[in-house]
Amino acid sequence: MRSATRSGVSRVRVWTAAALAVAAATALVAVASAPRAPDRPPSEPATALPTPSAPRIEPPAAAPMPAPDTTRPIRRRRSIAVGAPSAGRLVRGVRLPAERQSFVTWDPVLRRSPNRHWRRWGTDRLVRIVIGVARGYRGKHPGAPRIAIGDLSRPHGGDFGRRFGPIGHASHQNGLDADIYYPRADGIERPPQRVSQIDRRLSQELVDRFLATGAQVIFVGPNTGLTGPPERVQALANHDNHLHVRLPAGSSG
Ligand SMILES: [Zn+2]
Repeated sequence: MRSATRSGVSRVRVWTAAALAVAAATALVAVASAPRAPDRPPSEPATALPTPSAPRIEPPAAAPMPAPDTTRPIRRRRSIAVGAPSAGRLVRGVRLPAERQSFVTWDPVLRRSPNRHWRRWGTDRLVRIVIGVARGYRGKHPGAPRIAIGDLSRPHGGDFGRRFGPIGHASHQNGLDADIYYPRADGIERPPQRVSQIDRRLSQELVDRFLATGAQVIFVGPNTGLTGPPERVQALANHDNHLHVRLPAGSSG
């Protein structure tokens, strides 16, 4: 009798333990399947847009792969650079192709080639000058790596600041600015990471070629040793891996 009672007690304990286990498992499932506040899609940029009417930043994952435009001719347009490079916009801009035989483009935020299509718009004249310099350079150095071109302006210009990726641009707003990475001494078609990787001779040649096109100003890194007329070639922080060429206002179209 006593043993039967003990047995009954232990059976109760077993059942109680089993019931607790089932309850715990149910609770876990409930927690796991409970509806949660919708997460931001992983592709959504972390930075919020300041106003609802502001143009949406194209998230990296949603950026359609640009069609191969190696041979597609560039449509000629009468572009207008409105306002100033640091407070302006671009009307009837032209998109720089993703890649040509003479150049590649580079996305400074995603750190990959090609650059996203919405980061490479400029006036018709700027795009043609950049391509022309790349062609001339390539023609003289057919065995050298192609030059890597970074950001120009957004399709309609305007703000190109930090919300479009670090470190952002104070200018690049009206289609007259372009970033060109210095050629690397090791021949790799990527931006140099250190000044010591720069091919200074080829980089100076690029500076000279852009000067010859009538560039208003070219910003170069203070540690690059690149030179030119002081009023047109100026040292500026954060330019030790690329030069920034700016065309004069009124050079639209
Ligand atoms: Zn720039």
